[in-house]
Amino acid sequence: MIDLKQFEFWFIVGSQDLYGEETLKQVAEHARIMAEEFSRDGQLPGTLVLKPVATDPAGIRKLFEEAAAAPACAGIITWMHTFSPSKMWIQGLAINKKPVLHLHTQFNRDIPWDSIDMDFMNLNQSAHGDREHGYIYARMRLPRKVVAGYWQEAELRRRIGVWMRASSARQDGMDSAALRLGDNMREVAVTEGDKVEAQIKLGWQVNTWGIGDLAARYKGVSDSAAEKLVKDYEAAYEVSPELGGPGPRRNAVLEQAKIEIALKEFLTAEHAGAFTTTFQDLHGLPQLPGLAAQRLMEQGYGFGAEGDWKQSMLVRAAKVMALGLSGGVSFMEDYTYHFEPGKEAALGAHMLEVCPSIAGAKPRLEVHPLGIGGKADPARLVFEAAPGPALLVTLVDLGTRLRMIVNEIETIPVEHHMPRLPVACALWKPLPNIRDAAEAWMLAGGAHHSVYTTALSAEYFQDWAEMSQIECVLIGKDTKPLRLREELRWGEACWK
Ligand code: MN
Repeated sequence: MIDLKQFEFWFIVGSQDLYGEETLKQVAEHARIMAEEFSRDGQLPGTLVLKPVATDPAGIRKLFEEAAAAPACAGIITWMHTFSPSKMWIQGLAINKKPVLHLHTQFNRDIPWDSIDMDFMNLNQSAHGDREHGYIYARMRLPRKVVAGYWQEAELRRRIGVWMRASSARQDGMDSAALRLGDNMREVAVTEGDKVEAQIKLGWQVNTWGIGDLAARYKGVSDSAAEKLVKDYEAAYEVSPELGGPGPRRNAVLEQAKIEIALKEFLTAEHAGAFTTTFQDLHGLPQLPGLAAQRLMEQGYGFGAEGDWKQSMLVRAAKVMALGLSGGVSFMEDYTYHFEPGKEAALGAHMLEVCPSIAGAKPRLEVHPLGIGGKADPARLVFEAAPGPALLVTLVDLGTRLRMIVNEIETIPVEHHMPRLPVACALWKPLPNIRDAAEAWMLAGGAHHSVYTTALSAEYFQDWAEMSQIECVLIGKDTKPLRLREELRWGEACWK
């Protein structure tokens, strides 16, 4: 589906003509060495493109014009090797639409104590030049990530890599469409939102198709195509014995295979990276897409239930960010609490649609009744999520703007067998603790639907929110709900 190498990151090193040709040659050579080493580092997933050293206003403006016109350009990294007067950058920065990372580093690691002279100082003066550069970003109120440190350190490169992945997700969002099958669940508030605002801010194209369009494609899928796909299921998952032979339960699996094929054809035809379904609108389909939704998420598509296009597109963004990383990304829903003292936890699941990329062991393919929607028994994958650090992330519409809320959680093993709960689920302890996390989430207006991920830290979403110019509320180990309530109030002024 997506190859992160398709996203270019332009590396612009700033200087000026004052220092003479020899110094500029050295600046260009250092930039070349850095760009080559960055390109070889697997932590930096995109394609780094080194641009000529920027030394004058016309050249700088031209670079940003070219970046704006380049769909492959997902972001720009700037670094001032020497002093580069910032008024030269204003025209360029004023038209820039790409995410920016201000890299603050120095080519030379150590001060050469015995030989240092003014020539050395003039060449290696990022400490000086980047302060001028940082000022103009601050003066122009431009969104950016600042990453400081020595350029060969793993931590600095990790942070650049995080920003590159967030920028790749943003660029993917600029081209991405969500295929909405049906509207929101009736009477539900938090899954609603301003699709026009989302497209202006995030590039997301959210449009609706009738469920009949999917039903028609479903009817066109051949039995042999479905049988062939079920062979893939048998290879990938534990399949209950009663699904092996002919009968209504086997047919339920075949129906989901047909839905998966039809949905994928539909997504491909509409160039969509995400989709939503609504159990209240399934005319012409035999079952709610359960296994089909799980399988498509596993292949990198975003998904949101009950018409929730915001979480669907957010799942998609997280899928792009997490590409090739260990861990998974899924649509998720807070379901029920365990309040036993000392063992407090939250159980998350959905009716069916949880992505197997977060599973702790091989998922089991099963068919069971579903007490909602009034359709046939749907096939689904059943599993428990792998333990470890994870995140819940949600996007809500506050009427005048979007807010993202991130909660750091720790997924724990499910100690008890739950024989009568045949759905995929995750059991977690939210940070800082279950009460404060829940109070903070409620105060921020967080939804019951979210993106669950074990592949990404909060930094990815904070970077993505910064470049998208939307609010990002973090709930983690240091969160105090009453303090957060004050911060949310201050935020009303800043995000007005
Ligand atoms: Mn739901």
